[in-house]
Amino acid sequence: MSRATIINGKEVSARLKNEIKEKVHALGVRPCLHVILVGNNQASLVYVRNKANACEECGIASTTHHLDESVSEEYVLKLIRDLNSDDNVDGILVQLPLPPHISQAKVISAISPLKDVDGFHPMNLGLLLSGEPVFVPCTPLGIIKLIEETGIEMEGRKAVVIGRSIIVGKPTAILLLQRNATVTMCHSKTKDLPMVVREADIVVAAIGRPRFVTESFIKDGAIVIDVGINRGQDGKLCGDVDFEGVSKKASFITPVPGGVGPMTIACLMHNTVQAHLLRRQVKSGRLA
Ligand code: NAD
Repeated sequence: MSRATIINGKEVSARLKNEIKEKVHALGVRPCLHVILVGNNQASLVYVRNKANACEECGIASTTHHLDESVSEEYVLKLIRDLNSDDNVDGILVQLPLPPHISQAKVISAISPLKDVDGFHPMNLGLLLSGEPVFVPCTPLGIIKLIEETGIEMEGRKAVVIGRSIIVGKPTAILLLQRNATVTMCHSKTKDLPMVVREADIVVAAIGRPRFVTESFIKDGAIVIDVGINRGQDGKLCGDVDFEGVSKKASFITPVPGGVGPMTIACLMHNTVQAHLLRRQVKSGRLA
């Protein structure tokens, strides 16, 4: 029985981080990322630590503002305003989710679009939609880079994105569309989901349900990108895709862990360097 080729996100992200490290070295200054973390969500603590480690690897300076769970919304907004006006700061990232008493929308909108390395500011999402992105959200950018890694053209392929969040599903669908794929978006209200997914040459699963996408959803030879990060009943980390079953039918598949996750972080490094370069251009008057 044939088995899919594994797209190794660790390897691809290591290559990308190396390229970024060389770029930073050539710049002669360290771009600077500030991360705001509110509370002690266990997954967020791990993500923030991994982001700081990646900064270190790439020669990017990073500062984490670890705030108490009970911090006020006003305090967070004031911190963002201060970082917006600090000329030494290139990128600002607010680790999500935030506690319920802090408005995610308000906080994201407060970040200067020029420093919005997560690409979630309404202006950056609008630019992405218009086809002239400045900062592309990190996970969707990483997903596209992993599909490119297969060497298979996206143009004319049928792509199905399962999940319509603003962080993953929607921007991924837009990026696939911009590469001339024929894109279908699925979500919790989609009828006959397995039938829709079986049409796809490219499947992106961003649902948040352990091993939800099984072999019966997949067309022979499809490319399968698994975005999910879940804990299975056995307590182990797993994706939204049943890796064992699906890899019998897919041509390419990403593992969890070691697939999309490391790419998200590498793309954050990429966006931080872009933010530094962008502000240089603005300061030198080359960008109005
Ligand atoms: P979310 O909860 O915001 O969105 C989930 C989406 O899945 C929703 O649009 C919903 O409509 C859809 N959905 C839920 N149940 C469904 C069903 N039965 N059938 C079809 N669609 C269904 O989640 P998110 O932020 O987009 O994250 C999705 C997953 O990706 C999570 O496991 C998250 O941890 C993971 N994630 C991973 C990375 C990474 O770097 N690897 C980054 C972000 C998110």
